[in-house]
Amino acid sequence: MYKTEPIFLQPVFQERIWGGEKLHTEFHYEIPSAHTGEAWVISAHSNGPSMIKNGPLAGKTLADAWKEQGGLFNKATSNDEEYPLLVKILDAAEDLSVQVHPNDQFAREVEGVPYGKTECWYVVSAEEGAELVLGHHAKTKEDLAQMVELGEWDQLLRKIKVKAGDFVYVPSGTIHAIGKGIVILETQQSSDITYRVYDYDRIDAEGNKRELHLERSIQVTTVPHQDASVEQTETNIGDLVEKKLVEEQYFTVYHWNLNGKALKDMTKDFLQVSVIDGQAALTIGENTFQIEKGTHFILPNGIGKYSLEGHAEFIVSHV
Ligand code: ZN
Repeated sequence: MYKTEPIFLQPVFQERIWGGEKLHTEFHYEIPSAHTGEAWVISAHSNGPSMIKNGPLAGKTLADAWKEQGGLFNKATSNDEEYPLLVKILDAAEDLSVQVHPNDQFAREVEGVPYGKTECWYVVSAEEGAELVLGHHAKTKEDLAQMVELGEWDQLLRKIKVKAGDFVYVPSGTIHAIGKGIVILETQQSSDITYRVYDYDRIDAEGNKRELHLERSIQVTTVPHQDASVEQTETNIGDLVEKKLVEEQYFTVYHWNLNGKALKDMTKDFLQVSVIDGQAALTIGENTFQIEKGTHFILPNGIGKYSLEGHAEFIVSHV
């Protein structure tokens, strides 16, 4: 009975010192303040679990569904690990701190949590000249440690310019920071472990600097920086252009551009879908659902064929 409709999810908002108002002005969400940095839009993480909006599971969290209704995700009953992925939209009104995330092994051994954090970003919008940090110029760990200690950020950090529609893949161990003026949709492993390297010496409303984690940052950073090579392919399905942005160990992420009608076949265990522009009708069997920019849902296992009609852009992912 659950397998005839999508699982629509309610975003969870996170206020951040670097956040802004674009989650309201661009996505029309009711945000808690003018410093809203993140909307966790498909999340089973305990720091911000999404609530299910429809169907027999309405009012439960995605984490509940994962635990109690494993069939929706084609999850083996013996597998009690946590929901693997997390999707967020971030509004960087100011620069985010320069940071790095551990891999699974380090996360398990040192932090006692199941997942490290590999992430990737689709740039939804970017102001003129917006740039972000991806990687560094240190040649050895000693080099890295010394440049961090001396605060040689201009020499250390590798900056790149971005525009709307760009895609950035950020494996664990990559030093990174989203720069101001950028709104991204992030698909990542379901983890909240961040080692902060540099925070521009900012202070919060109480006059405190945010904590840095230099030793662990240096431990987990890949040296020298390696640019991940990402091969992108494009497929036409009816009036939908499906561009595969990345396919790797933890997730596969696509951009869909719909201009008309497309009939698709659900072949994955489950699919995470975010509408990032436009509107469309989603039909599964007898049921049609209106979806628009800012709608996020999961297509559960076993729904078979479904159709999309309208003009919309999506970011879609699966494990
Ligand atoms: Zn990150």
